[in-house]
Amino acid sequence: VKTLLLLLLLAPATQAADLENLITAELPGLISFYKDLHAHPELAFHEKRTGAKVAKALKKAGFTVTTGFGSYTKKGRVPTGVVGVLRNGEGPTVLLRADMDALPVTEATELKYASKVKISKGGKQVGVMHACGHDAHTSVLVGAAKVLAQARKRWQGTLIVIGQPAEEAGAGARSLLADGLYTKTARPDYAFAFHVSPDLPAGAVGYHTGYTLANTDSVDITVRGKPGHGAFPQNTVDPIVLASRLVLALQTIVSREVEPLKAAVISVGEIHAGTRRNLIPAEVQLRLTVRTYENEVRTKVLAAIERTARGIADSAGAPAPVVTVRGEGTPAVYNDPPLTRRLAGAFKKVLGQARVIETGAVMGGEDFGRYGLKREVPISMFWLGATESERLRKARAGHGRIWPLHSPGMRIAPKATLSTGVQAMALAVIELLPAAK
Ligand SMILES: [Zn+2]
Ligand SMILES: [Zn+2]
Repeated sequence: VKTLLLLLLLAPATQAADLENLITAELPGLISFYKDLHAHPELAFHEKRTGAKVAKALKKAGFTVTTGFGSYTKKGRVPTGVVGVLRNGEGPTVLLRADMDALPVTEATELKYASKVKISKGGKQVGVMHACGHDAHTSVLVGAAKVLAQARKRWQGTLIVIGQPAEEAGAGARSLLADGLYTKTARPDYAFAFHVSPDLPAGAVGYHTGYTLANTDSVDITVRGKPGHGAFPQNTVDPIVLASRLVLALQTIVSREVEPLKAAVISVGEIHAGTRRNLIPAEVQLRLTVRTYENEVRTKVLAAIERTARGIADSAGAPAPVVTVRGEGTPAVYNDPPLTRRLAGAFKKVLGQARVIETGAVMGGEDFGRYGLKREVPISMFWLGATESERLRKARAGHGRIWPLHSPGMRIAPKATLSTGVQAMALAVIELLPAAK
């Protein structure tokens, strides 16, 4: 009886060690896989090479793989989504997702495997770079899939792994769902994903429950006036003055119309007008990004933007402005609280309390929220720490800079980031699915 008790007590520890051994064996290959993806970034809806690499690795691990997944309506978009399914007996379904696309950013790191890929954009040569760390997400997904395929005794159920295109275009998740992701495979009981965070140390993961990333909407406003000579304003309606008034007035929507404890951001990122200093132009173009969490706040803010633009034009006797909400923005990522707490608890047991950090929410956007189908499927997105702790410590003390996501200097510490990512992703599945009988 004593031996049995001892074995039972030792069992979880041995199992954790087994998982670590599998990861240690996979890690060198995975780091090469990551560096190769980093050196060969592909933009949204062009992830052919990346998708093929993911598909090959998943097939080799025993997954049933469908490539070219995704429903596309716009010209020039190729279906590049990869869906791998591994059925391992009766049980719930867990979906793991990684996005695969890069950004039109010219890399400025001195890494040996830095991207040299260039594309021509508007007649100019622009670099392509994995500046949002999606190469790390894809590598972690492949690593976790391989480890879980080997550790099949630890879980029972169905595993769906997704190599998602076009997160940066806010369109990849939608295209997979529109192509019948949940009907052709299965509707998952849980969905999980990582996003790298340069602000957290490599080796740690971060989480938040509830609203974690925001609804993102793009709004275009054309402020219209009556053009004329700059010396004779009395004969014109100056849209530059109206647009200036509007930019300031838009900020009072957040400060005066939204409840103080609810979150919203309106940023005017582009303003275009005019050709000459003495010419009052006919119109001004404004381009906005609007971030919110709750749907009522979103509806209210979008309506207030329109009303404010109209009101300002009216007050000056100008023609009505044109306000366009471009397409459907990405919905907020709402991390299901019970699921998120459960996973954070499981990670803490293995990684230790100090490596599982509550981070708070941000107003960034991510199309992972779509997998939740308006909260019908519990989803959770965790942050994956990506910067060497020593660099992070120095930067916090004012020495050196940590380049943020989307910047030309963004870099991660591959070894600790990938091994922790694979470990936590595998643990998530083992936590959510029962052990094989
Ligand atoms: Zn991004
Ligand atoms: Zn991203």
